[in-house]
Amino acid sequence: MKILIAGGGIGGLTAALALQARGHEVTVLESVREPKPLGVGINLLPHAVGVLDGLGLLPALREMAVETSALVFANKHGQAIHRDPRGLAGGYSHPQFSIHRGELQMRLWREASAKVTVLSGQRVVGVRDGNVALIEAADGPREQAADLIVGADGIHSALRKRLAPDEGPPRWRGVMMWRGTSWAPPFLDGKTMVQAGHSQAKFVVYPIGAPRADGLQLINWIADRRVHEATPGLTAPDRADWSRAGRLGDLLPTFGGWHFDWLDVPALITRAEQMLEWPMVDRDPLPRWQLGPTTLLGDAAHPMYPIGSNGATQAIMDARALADALTNHADLGTALAAFEDERRPLCARIVEMNRREGLDAILDRVEALAPEGFTRLEDVIDPAEVATEINRYKAAAGHRVRTT
Ligand SMILES: Cc1cc2nc3c(=O)[nH]c(=O)nc-3n(C[C@H](O)[C@H](O)[C@H](O)COP(=O)(O)OP(=O)(O)OC[C@H]3O[C@@H](n4cnc5c(N)ncnc54)[C@H](O)[C@@H]3O)c2cc1C
Repeated sequence: MKILIAGGGIGGLTAALALQARGHEVTVLESVREPKPLGVGINLLPHAVGVLDGLGLLPALREMAVETSALVFANKHGQAIHRDPRGLAGGYSHPQFSIHRGELQMRLWREASAKVTVLSGQRVVGVRDGNVALIEAADGPREQAADLIVGADGIHSALRKRLAPDEGPPRWRGVMMWRGTSWAPPFLDGKTMVQAGHSQAKFVVYPIGAPRADGLQLINWIADRRVHEATPGLTAPDRADWSRAGRLGDLLPTFGGWHFDWLDVPALITRAEQMLEWPMVDRDPLPRWQLGPTTLLGDAAHPMYPIGSNGATQAIMDARALADALTNHADLGTALAAFEDERRPLCARIVEMNRREGLDAILDRVEALAPEGFTRLEDVIDPAEVATEINRYKAAAGHRVRTT
């Protein structure tokens, strides 16, 4: 089948590789003229790593990424509330990886370019007659027909607009995120991801590379802060600002006093080699992704708050599910319906769970009960209850611990 994918991000490129492996003739059209390793750190959950392993990429991931040993939940004083072993240590079939988003995208880009047609500087702006993509290219407009067109064109997807023409901009509920990377001494075991604080002010931190010769490690961090009450109709800062450089002055008044036993947050922030500011946005789940011989995947289909390491993970899961559905069903309409049945309810559930703070709800409970910290966690909250709540989120989000 001839398949055209709009968007050469992590979802689109993984889909290209998965579909090519099943014998399809794939073309990826990416709007950016010159792809660069943009973004900072992301986490790939074991189920997504399993998909990339199936595409032969596990050795490359091991080289580029840090194998995450655990996710630690902590209060704003850095005291641990819960330690959740991750990847192989957590009983999964595959590791969890903390990785630089841009480097992963470039690796997938090279891999896909060797196997399918990958073109940059090609913006897909619409579809004519069901299966003809309308493209704005550097040398003028053009059209390209395919048996299937996949919109993997991110949160501002042009193809999603065909399904939700009146949707408007992404939804913002008043939280800004500052994402940065800093070279700093390793913390804890040098492989742990930590989320500390609560929903009004939260600091997520994890390393994304091995220590270099001077012992310093590239540490990725995300500082979230509520800057507006969540009022109906609140609109996010202009889209043009989404990759705006952040300022220390926006963070230090909130995080300047967060000196943990195991990490000095203001010192880390102050050493940032890059710091970007983004609004935390998502969109309402769609009632369908399919329109004739077109469908959506990744952020185009289900943009969600970046809680629980689901952004790239779910895009990768979509890629394999689409390839499976096209293998299992000869009829395209039936295959797209099967793909959507498998993926749409699960992703809608994650969007909703993340709006209710997802895994981080536990942080709010501990903050409300013990804002000054604690001597013994058991005096504040039952640790078994914390574990149950975290396991419930993980099960709903598709984590599968190995049973044999
Ligand atoms: C530049 C950038 C930086 C990011 N940085 C981070 C980060 O640091 N941390 C994090 O957690 N998440 C980040 N994300 C988001 C994260 O990559 C996604 O949530 C996740 O990987 C799902 O990927 P996706 O492929 O669905 O979407 P995306 O990664 O957004 O990829 C979509 C791709 O489609 C291209 N595109 C857009 N419109 C069109 C069009 N009309 N025609 C053709 N191509 C189009 C875009 O240029 C992009 O390459 C970033 C996304 C981008 C685009």
